[in-house]
Amino acid sequence: MRPKRRLGQNFLTGSAYPRRIVDAVNPAPDEPILEIGPGEGALTGLLLDAGARVTALEVDPDLRPHLLQLYGSNPRFNLLLADALLTNPCQLFPFDGRFRVVANLPYYIATPLLQHLIAHRHCIAEMTLMLQREVVERIVAPPGGREYGYLSVLVQLYAEVRRLFDVPPGAFRPVPKVTSSVIRLRLATAPRVEVADPARLLLLARTLFAQRRKTILNNLRAGLGPLAIDSAARLPALLDAASIDPQRRPETLDLAELARLTDLI
Ligand code: SAM
Repeated sequence: MRPKRRLGQNFLTGSAYPRRIVDAVNPAPDEPILEIGPGEGALTGLLLDAGARVTALEVDPDLRPHLLQLYGSNPRFNLLLADALLTNPCQLFPFDGRFRVVANLPYYIATPLLQHLIAHRHCIAEMTLMLQREVVERIVAPPGGREYGYLSVLVQLYAEVRRLFDVPPGAFRPVPKVTSSVIRLRLATAPRVEVADPARLLLLARTLFAQRRKTILNNLRAGLGPLAIDSAARLPALLDAASIDPQRRPETLDLAELARLTDLI
């Protein structure tokens, strides 16, 4: 196959890294696994060998003949040609439990796809994902640093995150410019901090991180409309009630502080 750059096609070559990823997943016999973007099947074959029941969601129809030739006769393999961003993952398996997801994600849609999958956490228990290392650094970042932002808050609100290992550019065809990292996200259905309205917490985080160099107070002033706060004059008192210094920078707020502020707003 000639890889298509516009679809983020960087295929894993060799067996060492695919094996490490599938070993980290360690599927149980007959376990349903959703693989997003099977590509040429580097992970698919090993998942099937491990006994998993693999539903593979691939957007590129040109990969179909290759994948069917390799695995089409395996009754545990099911190929769906569709855009993962436009597919409801919860409707892919005819059972009520929560399944696991494995993907070497196309980097060009990694963040929206993560958001999409987290939004469907009621049917997804865990995701083992390969992403660009700098995206992984943003996901796992603790408060206080340059990497901490909306993506960290979104993922950490719903997932226990474990960084597993890095994968060098030379493990792919074509060779990308960046190093990749594999992470495991264990998804909770409820938010991992107590907050009355988690969607509002995310809206607040989006507002606060809109202009990272501004103080919390100034970001809130600029975001009064989306947060439906009637007057900027209320902001100092709200921040005071949440015990948050208005002059702090948004990246210093941890999840508990964001939750406290959300509940007050
Ligand atoms: N899993 C293979 C591997 O590790 O070698 C391929 C990984 S490649 C980085 C990403 C794969 O995702 C490609 O096969 C690409 O066609 C597919 N893809 C890209 N956008 C997609 C989308 N929106 N929905 C489903 N698959 C997509």
